[in-house]
Amino acid sequence: MIVILKDGATKKQIEMVEKKLIELGFKTHPIYGEIKTVIGAVGDKRDINKNLILLMEGVEEIVPIMRPYKLASKELYKQPTVIDVGDGVKIGGEKLAIMAGPCAIEGEREFIEVAKKVKNAGANILRGGAYKPRSSPYSFQGLEIEGLKILAQARRETGLLLVTEVVDTRDVETVDKYADIIQIGARNMQNFRLLKEVGSSSKPALLKRGLAATITEWLMAAEYIMSEGNEKVILCERGIRTYETATRNTMDISAIPVIKEISHLPVIADPSHATGHSKYVPSMAKAAIAAGADGLIVEVHQDPPNAMSDGEQSLYPDEFVNLMDEISKVAQAVGRRI
Ligand code: PEP
Ligand code: MN
Repeated sequence: MIVILKDGATKKQIEMVEKKLIELGFKTHPIYGEIKTVIGAVGDKRDINKNLILLMEGVEEIVPIMRPYKLASKELYKQPTVIDVGDGVKIGGEKLAIMAGPCAIEGEREFIEVAKKVKNAGANILRGGAYKPRSSPYSFQGLEIEGLKILAQARRETGLLLVTEVVDTRDVETVDKYADIIQIGARNMQNFRLLKEVGSSSKPALLKRGLAATITEWLMAAEYIMSEGNEKVILCERGIRTYETATRNTMDISAIPVIKEISHLPVIADPSHATGHSKYVPSMAKAAIAAGADGLIVEVHQDPPNAMSDGEQSLYPDEFVNLMDEISKVAQAVGRRI
């Protein structure tokens, strides 16, 4: 529920209300506006006597949050959230977040080469998987800790921020040390233990939509991370399973305006996993930006035919340069920039 305080409620009154809410078992999220202060109170306490709060000094009204997700809902935070990733990179503002790099880190020399190329093309965040959630146990599983060290080297050489995936609760602490953004992949969107673990991190989380997840299930997954204290969640639409086989997944472009309507969280798009074919990536990237996405995550590889994973959907560095040029025009048309 949302506790709305009266205009001019004193600091003391606000503190007392918050204290009472905590006593009743709620987690509190005060939002100090210029005129009004409100306190989001989250917890499973349907049977409390609301008058215990309503009749306190300084309280104007109590409004229930109707959606099952609370912290992720726009009912609580009305303004879009802008996530500060560090080094001046913000996700959710006018400037788009462009994350690019190979699906997996395959070796230091290749990775740093491609990192420099995506940086020169204008990407502000470098992607690369060290732990790979492969559909087959016989496929390349990633370089793991060695991959993380290569990521750190790429950061030193390019200054780019890093996004990388974690697939196991036991690795969250380690990945946390290297990553600027911790990715939770589509296959783990409902791995609740992993969500909670990432919820204890101070690093922003990139939460990909599950292969067959509804938007509500996706936002409930965000709620898991947020309810542990990490409210820096970036959503990522990466296509969902449908009966269509022409593309790897079906990119749900409409999820972008839907998310914008019901949540304050930033949302980016992954046209690479959504389509599975590099030739469709530019169209879907432009469509996502036109639909209001706050950025993109795109797979770029030096030599896609020989990539150890997701080569078919990876762009050559030159193609990524062209993509940046094309999306900058779309961005401009919708009041954004790259
Ligand atoms: C990836 O980003 O390489 C990946 C595995 O993505 P997803 O979880 O969306 O399939
Ligand atoms: Mn991939």
